[in-house]
Amino acid sequence: MSFDASCEETLEALEAACLRRHLRPLQGRAGHELMVDTEGATRLCFASNDYLGLAHDPRLVQAAQRALEEYGVGSGASRLITGTHPAHVALEEAIAEFKGVEAALCFATGYSAAMGFATAFLDRSSIVLLDKLCHASLIDACRLVGARLRVFRHNDMDKLRSLLEWARAKSPTGRVVVMTESVFSMDGDTAPLRDLVELKEVFGAELFIDEAHAVGVLGPGGRGLASELNLVDRVDVHMGTLGKAVGVAGGYLAGSRPMIEVLLNRARSFVYSTAPPPALAEAARTSLAIVAGDEGEQRRVRLRSSVRRLSRNLEIEPPVAAIAPWIVGGEAAAMGMAEVLADAGFSVPAIRYPSVARGSARLRITVSSAHTEAQIDSLTQAILAYRSGHEPTDRPQC
Ligand SMILES: *Cc1c(COP(=O)(O)O)cnc(C)c1O
Repeated sequence: MSFDASCEETLEALEAACLRRHLRPLQGRAGHELMVDTEGATRLCFASNDYLGLAHDPRLVQAAQRALEEYGVGSGASRLITGTHPAHVALEEAIAEFKGVEAALCFATGYSAAMGFATAFLDRSSIVLLDKLCHASLIDACRLVGARLRVFRHNDMDKLRSLLEWARAKSPTGRVVVMTESVFSMDGDTAPLRDLVELKEVFGAELFIDEAHAVGVLGPGGRGLASELNLVDRVDVHMGTLGKAVGVAGGYLAGSRPMIEVLLNRARSFVYSTAPPPALAEAARTSLAIVAGDEGEQRRVRLRSSVRRLSRNLEIEPPVAAIAPWIVGGEAAAMGMAEVLADAGFSVPAIRYPSVARGSARLRITVSSAHTEAQIDSLTQAILAYRSGHEPTDRPQC
């Protein structure tokens, strides 16, 4: 079969399973509370991770513009080759201070930060114990290096304990890493971080937490869940992205100075990848200062109040952060519901396998501090109206 024919076959199979994805073109501003598609329809966006509404902030834009004019667009090479730009150093110092740790290292994306950790610290002799709901970047990173991977049921500490016992029996002194997220990206709940810390200490394992959806949202100054629970020093590796609440792009790992030094020697996605534009680093540093300051706090207050309003209206458990999943079940049903909401003027993504387990397709509603009460109410009315018109057994075609 020709390559193209095999591609066609793959696409047909995805289509038949209601799992084919499409890029929907956008005009104007992605990630804002409003977005416009190519047909000119305006939709309210409840899909973005720009939780604090900073992605279009003029101060970030200006910081990037100034840096573009001064330093140009491209950085030319890996930072180990051309030399490290002061904008990257300044951002890393700001991240380390923000997270309350010794040092940080930036990557082009959160995804490549996860790859960086794995390539620097894991190999076939390492054991990784991973929460079942962890993000693809963490799973892919562990697979890439061939680490021995065991998955524990979501937030199940008894299961984790027995896996740690197994790991120590297999590898009494080897590297054992527990990996989890602090706020889970598709369910919006949190990890029991205190229990995790205590368990990993008992077994002499390392703890890696991905705070992608907690930074900017939880903890004092939006520093994340570890900070909120006063556990920063007991977490070995802090991972995050600059593309969500921070509103820019990029990823980071943060922790002890020696860990960061090993990373910059060994993390292949750092060593063999062109440094991100210094202008993005300047925008991210400007954003972090806002996130950590009084204005960030005001934005978090508005965000929390909108999240409470949404959950009250929908009669669901209030989410701890800014992600509210509305579980539908079937893939086609979730797609159908997202389409009806789109026609009603709301962009809410239907999340399907393989992003979530089969049969647990859902709408993933994300709230931003930029949403107004009226906007929240209009969305929840549309969701409730849809529900009252559709029995759960409905399976619209996708
Ligand atoms: C988005 C996300 C990432 C990847 O970050 P990017 O900067 O978008 O590459 C990693 N982990 C989690 C939990 C995420 O949600």
